[in-house]
Amino acid sequence: MDGRRFDVVVIGGGINGASSAQHLAAAGYAVPLVDKGDFASGSSSRSTGMLHCGLRYFETPNPVRDFMLSPRRFRTALTMAKASMQTRAELVTDSSGRLMPYTLCFPIYKNGPYKPWHLDIGFRLLGALGPKTVPLDYRRLPPDEARRLPLVDALADPAQLRSVATFREYMLDWPERFCIDAVLDAERMGAVVRNHTTARLIERDTSGDWRIGLTGNDGESTVTAPVVLSMAGIWIDAVNRPVQDGTGGKRYILGTKGSHIAVQLPSEFHDYGIATVNSIGEPHYCLPSQGGYHHIGPTETVYEGDIEDIRVNTSEVDFLLAETRTVLPGLELGSSDVVYSWAGVRPLTYDPDIPKGNRSREIHDLTDQGMPNVLAMTAGPVMSHRSAGREMTAAVRRLVDPSGAAQNPDYTPRKLPEDANALPVVDGDDSVRLSHLGYVAETEHAASLSDILFARTGLGYCHQLSDSQIQTAAEAVSAHLGWNDAEIHRQVDTVKTRRDRLHQPAPDAE
Ligand SMILES: Cc1cc2nc3c(=O)[nH]c(=O)nc-3n(C[C@H](O)[C@H](O)[C@H](O)COP(=O)(O)OP(=O)(O)OC[C@H]3O[C@@H](n4cnc5c(N)ncnc54)[C@H](O)[C@@H]3O)c2cc1C
Repeated sequence: MDGRRFDVVVIGGGINGASSAQHLAAAGYAVPLVDKGDFASGSSSRSTGMLHCGLRYFETPNPVRDFMLSPRRFRTALTMAKASMQTRAELVTDSSGRLMPYTLCFPIYKNGPYKPWHLDIGFRLLGALGPKTVPLDYRRLPPDEARRLPLVDALADPAQLRSVATFREYMLDWPERFCIDAVLDAERMGAVVRNHTTARLIERDTSGDWRIGLTGNDGESTVTAPVVLSMAGIWIDAVNRPVQDGTGGKRYILGTKGSHIAVQLPSEFHDYGIATVNSIGEPHYCLPSQGGYHHIGPTETVYEGDIEDIRVNTSEVDFLLAETRTVLPGLELGSSDVVYSWAGVRPLTYDPDIPKGNRSREIHDLTDQGMPNVLAMTAGPVMSHRSAGREMTAAVRRLVDPSGAAQNPDYTPRKLPEDANALPVVDGDDSVRLSHLGYVAETEHAASLSDILFARTGLGYCHQLSDSQIQTAAEAVSAHLGWNDAEIHRQVDTVKTRRDRLHQPAPDAE
């Protein structure tokens, strides 16, 4: 890439950078996409993985009063909810293989946070706003009928339960895979994609082009482009800082940490999730996920710590267990039930008036920071990555014309080739076979065993891989990636460390 001029450079290959590269390439732009780690290794690998229908935009302490007092707020809620319903319909229609459908249940208690009519009106609005092709299947069940549902029968206070609202929702199964698919589709349309490559804004030259330094496994190079997208998530401020021009360095990102725990519940619970509100008034979910686990969480606390090393604290695990014991005492969960835990930091929009950050997705023009033609995106969820990519492309179009011809993006989830004769990596799970690992290594920009077993195949999330499974997997890809015995050993150790970090009890408070 050294010395090459592009139309636009995308820094950051999380879900929003990948989608931007995909849509820019489709619009005919010459674009490289670079990530300092693996694609999707930032916040995109740490989410709760929910595809929200948009109900949360109507959730305020008193919706009728709050929206009557602020019609503008109501209009915003309608717009956001409509966008969520459209996203939901789009993903369910063309990426159903990457989603896991389930029934989400809202318990409604006599003095609880949800009022029956709030939910009835909220879902009627969502039904009216969204496409009719992907129904919500909303129902409000009386307590005796609801308590026959799995998981619901573990709820607290049966005598106070007035009803349970249920509807069809989806989990993104698993978020990184959406990102890898977008990266590969961008590449199919001509984008140059590089993971494990750090980008550095150097300067804007007299012709108006930005010079961007790249440092990767293959050394140093410099590329130029008139437009740069800073899609670096929680690292956006760090990417900007070296070139913010005597402006004091405006802050764009506020990170909030979210921790989760995973537990194994009886298999009949697997199609059901519960949404409640915790003791501090924040959403508390118990949701089905890959591998038959239920994910519980998330927490939400402002995070100013080391963004390269985000870990779950023991106190957060205790908090999540205590909250779950209050809401779902019938599950009788204790610390020995926690199979794994993980945390991430949400790249929210910094707003000094909102202590836990602004959740609205924003595109920032950094001209007033001495960075003309640099755009940054904050607070883009995984689920709406396609609209994020389209919006970024529209914003780039206002700055520069594409140098190439337009093409159509292909959202079809990539499939592994049929190979019924090869052994599965994990006995009993035929979805990924040993021969697939080499295929993934050669065709999906995987540089390490960890890249293959987590982001690309999801195996490390669905299964607690044994030492021998990891060793066999490393040997299966070694010839494809040119690894000798020492390298195989190093790769195996790295995956074991990642597995143990997920599956070991959380460390003591930091
Ligand atoms: C706890 C939690 C729960 C969440 N729950 C949900 C949910 O249920 N549903 C949902 O839709 N969303 C959810 N989200 C939000 C979602 O995960 C994030 O908003 C989204 O992943 C952000 O994607 P991104 O591409 O903007 O950033 P990231 O995924 O963080 O990508 C930024 C990338 O930039 C790279 N980078 C940084 N600096 C450089 C550099 N100098 N050079 C090259 N590359 C660089 C990083 O390596 C990283 O890969 C959740 C997030 C968290 C943390």
